[in-house]
Amino acid sequence: LLQQSEFAMIMAKSRNKNRYQFYIATIDTEIRQRKKLEMDLHLALEQSELSLRFQPQVNLNSSRIIGVETLLRWKHPDKGLISPDTFIPMAENSLDIIPIGDWVLESACNQLNVWRQSGYTELRMAVNLSAVQLQDKNIVERVEYLLNKYQIPANKLELEVTETSIMEDIEVSSAQLQRLKQAGVILALDDFGTGYSSLSYLKRFPFDKIKIDKSFVDGLPGSKENTVIVEAIIQLGKSFGLEVIAEGVETAAQESHLRQAGCLEGQGYFYGKPMLDDEFLDVLKNWDRHQ
Ligand code: C2E
Ligand code: MG
Ligand code: MG
Ligand code: MG
Repeated sequence: LLQQSEFAMIMAKSRNKNRYQFYIATIDTEIRQRKKLEMDLHLALEQSELSLRFQPQVNLNSSRIIGVETLLRWKHPDKGLISPDTFIPMAENSLDIIPIGDWVLESACNQLNVWRQSGYTELRMAVNLSAVQLQDKNIVERVEYLLNKYQIPANKLELEVTETSIMEDIEVSSAQLQRLKQAGVILALDDFGTGYSSLSYLKRFPFDKIKIDKSFVDGLPGSKENTVIVEAIIQLGKSFGLEVIAEGVETAAQESHLRQAGCLEGQGYFYGKPMLDDEFLDVLKNWDRHQ
């Protein structure tokens, strides 16, 4: 930021460089705005601007809700809702993802404990884990501590990581995932098919589950290409003995196509959007009656 400002000043001093000057000023403004947003994000947790939504995961044969994914939301005081695709990378950069991710993990465990006490003891809670959290040496102890504190069997907590995030440091990721696996939690590979070398990772890492990325599900059943990709992923999952869930299921046609292709689980607007905890409890209560 400083370097940019200095550069902008130097440019401003020299004449006949109006266009360049304007260009630098624009970049400068963007950098400032981004820095401001980063500073706001740094305070978001203590200002109670963060909250969680919960989205159902459904077994396509029994039509029952088997799990729920926790999704983070940031309501900025001026700018309103900001997408996690925008602020999660910022939080990873600034390392604010460590306290934020820990808050998500603990809140999700606390929430699952509440639902378990209402009798929903089969429900599995999925939480997204960022690359930075995965590299954190304390993460395994922290997960074990939270499972114990909130009386959650390890196999009712699922941690989702992306291919891109394990790429950051393959050795450390591999070791950390092995330790998490030993702790008994379920490990899911998120956004499957969008990263690199998916096949080798399936062998190398102790995943229990793959999540077919929404971008492939979008094209079903019309797109021949997506159909082939989705069916290949489902077969791949079966050969490796992995659970397979499709993300971004929005229509009955997509669902029936996936079911016929042998996919056992789905998640998407067709079953429910990410919702508040009370709304999710209502959905749980009413679900079986409406099937
Ligand atoms: P993801 O983990 O792959 O989550 C799925 C995203 O797809 C979510 O977006 C969800 O709202 C959206 N989605 C689910 N079903 C449908 C559908 O049928 N149609 C459409 N159009 N969208 C659907 P969201 O909540 O905006 O989150 C985006 C990404 O941000 C997540 O992708 C995840 O990578 C990241 N993220 C969200 N919460 C957290 C968190 O607590 N920690 C970390 N590290 N990352 C998070
Ligand atoms: Mg996810
Ligand atoms: Mg995903
Ligand atoms: Mg994603």
